[in-house]
Amino acid sequence: MSSGPVPLAERARTVVPGGVNSGQRNVPGLGDLVITGTGGARFRTADGREFTDFHAAFGPPLLGHNDPDVARAAAETGATLGHMGVGVTEGEVLLAEQLVELLPSVEKVLLTSTGSEATFHALRVARAATGRRLVVKFQGCYHGWHDSVSLNVISEPAKVGGHDPISTGILTEVLDSTLVLPFNDSAAVRHAFAELGSDIAAVIVEPVPHNVGALLPYEEFLTTLREETRRAGSVLVFDEVITGFRHDLGGWQRISGVTPDLTTLGKAIANGAPVGAIGGRADLMDLFSTRPGAPAFFAGTYNGHPGVVAAALATLRKLREEPVHEHVFRLGERARTELRELYARLGVPVTVAGYGSVFVTYFMDGTALDGGVPRTYEDLLANDAARFVGYRRRLLDHGLFELPLNLKRSHISYAHTDEDVDRLLEGTEAAVKAVLA
Ligand code: PLP
Repeated sequence: MSSGPVPLAERARTVVPGGVNSGQRNVPGLGDLVITGTGGARFRTADGREFTDFHAAFGPPLLGHNDPDVARAAAETGATLGHMGVGVTEGEVLLAEQLVELLPSVEKVLLTSTGSEATFHALRVARAATGRRLVVKFQGCYHGWHDSVSLNVISEPAKVGGHDPISTGILTEVLDSTLVLPFNDSAAVRHAFAELGSDIAAVIVEPVPHNVGALLPYEEFLTTLREETRRAGSVLVFDEVITGFRHDLGGWQRISGVTPDLTTLGKAIANGAPVGAIGGRADLMDLFSTRPGAPAFFAGTYNGHPGVVAAALATLRKLREEPVHEHVFRLGERARTELRELYARLGVPVTVAGYGSVFVTYFMDGTALDGGVPRTYEDLLANDAARFVGYRRRLLDHGLFELPLNLKRSHISYAHTDEDVDRLLEGTEAAVKAVLA
């Protein structure tokens, strides 16, 4: 007897480990999610469901999925200009010129295909420049999949304060050359530099750690990082893979007024096309081997791919010419404010945090927190993970997609409308009432 065609997700599991191509795409409790179409603020699945998407692929499509201007620019370029892997194209120069113009720290810039490659090279060149071993990162920050930074992102309470690798297969020597400090703790930074400053090659930080939702930095914390790294001759790296362009065309460095030595970018700068960038002080960037004879090896077959560069240029044009930030900031503020009001009315203690287009509802009472929002990873240990995930699973029944994984942030894009925020509020109310019932 014929049993009919094998479902795609099952075929995927046969030939792809777990059936998906990146960790965290296989979300427990979600069932098989076979994506068949995206557009603006929505996506569709093979089983006929349609969702309003507040996950937004971990953040790239700031303009919304398949933005027509970005898609057209990439397709038109692709029709006439293939990737050569030698020399340079006009688009690469135009993009570099704009990144230099927009980001205060960027005097020169190189393109990569991902954010991980950008942060990898930032640390490599910092070690090349200083001849030092240690890298400082902060609990709760994620900088990609490579060994030096693959630790202490979302850690169980007992692991906070120690080394907590997110993968096996990493040499202990590599993990031991990364020092993990608490975010927003200036005293800890000063202490580390007093003890080990002459060994510290780089400090890498998400200026707003969005990989655990949203921890807003104290102004004085970023200033301390700047002062201590400058005094010790270490390299300060702002990992703006999420904050860059999403919060401001000049990144968090323009918002905070703190200029790092190096900046890493990705995600929103090409609205979903695979891109990353590393930029910064000319003397550091000139150490990369794209300059003949320079010592820090830098390469990538797809770096500066014409279609990706065209997507980035079209994204930038739109971000500069249309009121994108005004729109997403207004809807983000509306979502945060009205979610707070809604939960207060329902008598459920939550802490709604975020910035601009990013929002996250933590299931914890934030009234005792400084300014009513979390500032440290330790603050987030009070979040009820089961409720955080449970409520997001319920949202699926109302056609709303916020990634049902603990501490993940949600995003608003230029394609979202007030009606989408209305839908979010209505769905949230129904989901919360169902949980409470
Ligand atoms: N840095 C930050 C702050 C990120 O959030 C990410 C990815 O989520 C990365 C780096 C790595 O970027 P990619 O996934 O493009 O390698």
